[in-house]
Amino acid sequence: MKVGILAVQGAVQPHVEKLKSLKVEPVLVRTPEALSQISGIILPGGESSAMIHLLKLTRLWDPLKEFVQMKPAWGVCAGVILLAKDVSHPVQESLDAIDISVTRNAYGRQNESFIDQVKPTERWPDKNLVEGVFIRAPRITRMGSNVKTLLTHREDAVLVEENNILATTFHPELTESASLHKYFIEKCVR
Ligand code: GLN
Repeated sequence: MKVGILAVQGAVQPHVEKLKSLKVEPVLVRTPEALSQISGIILPGGESSAMIHLLKLTRLWDPLKEFVQMKPAWGVCAGVILLAKDVSHPVQESLDAIDISVTRNAYGRQNESFIDQVKPTERWPDKNLVEGVFIRAPRITRMGSNVKTLLTHREDAVLVEENNILATTFHPELTESASLHKYFIEKCVR
């Protein structure tokens, strides 16, 4: 099985390493053609506004929008902003793939980024705390009734799922655990 990583901008390489460590072949997605080879796609962290610009420049926007309606897609940080239905602070267009609203940079600037433990809900497959690296992270401010919370940090849902879409406001590719990558790969296998 091949899993794609959107590679127009942002933290791509750490996801490549994680997928390889789990014996899954990563495909760097920079063209519409690459989408036909993959079972699911990771939209990594980075700068969502720059990604939107580059996705349009490379004519990936429309094919990607179609892909994420049907196939497994996992947004990480900026990737969540791309997948969310509504984006604010500032308002920005999106692929509109998961029924959540997000506020960009909700925890402050780069130097207010932080690492903290996040807590599993009963829907997450194990009971261990997960290390969460939050880098100019968005906050999920509204969730549609079909959106399920898997991990929380204080009052916030930080890993959520709706059908084929998974969304994580922190950076699991920057920590040792591969539990979230495993979870997404299982979603792609199904
Ligand atoms: N602040 C970035 C944005 O708005 C996201 C940051 C990240 O992906 N680490 O796109």
